[in-house]
Amino acid sequence: MSELKLCQGPNCHQRQTKDRLKGPKGNKTYQTRRRSNLYYGNNFCSMQCMDNWLNIYVDRAIDHFGRTTEVKHLTEQNAWTKDINWRLDNNDELRYYFVNGITNEQRPLTKQQYDDNNYTLNTS
Ligand SMILES: [Zn+2]
Repeated sequence: MSELKLCQGPNCHQRQTKDRLKGPKGNKTYQTRRRSNLYYGNNFCSMQCMDNWLNIYVDRAIDHFGRTTEVKHLTEQNAWTKDINWRLDNNDELRYYFVNGITNEQRPLTKQQYDDNNYTLNTS
């Protein structure tokens, strides 16, 4: 059996749904949802639980990890994004590519480079 994760929504247990009502007969309580996968932000059972958390903690989280304090600019040097051409069937060499959002230039990628989240052509 896979490990179950608890929803991180601070009020998850307060939503009175049938699936949250658990425990021995005569002593059931509404409980935080447990799931093998929590699809909202990888930590929440629903958009509402994620919103509840964000409303309480988002400012502290941004201050902790670094607040954006200056305008960012999209330039040729940082406009590269990865894309996939799904129409190609048997030509992996041309399937994955970088495209520059400013110049529209395209450059081929290997699947390995495409899957590597640290691999980028962006320099700023
Ligand atoms: Zn929840």
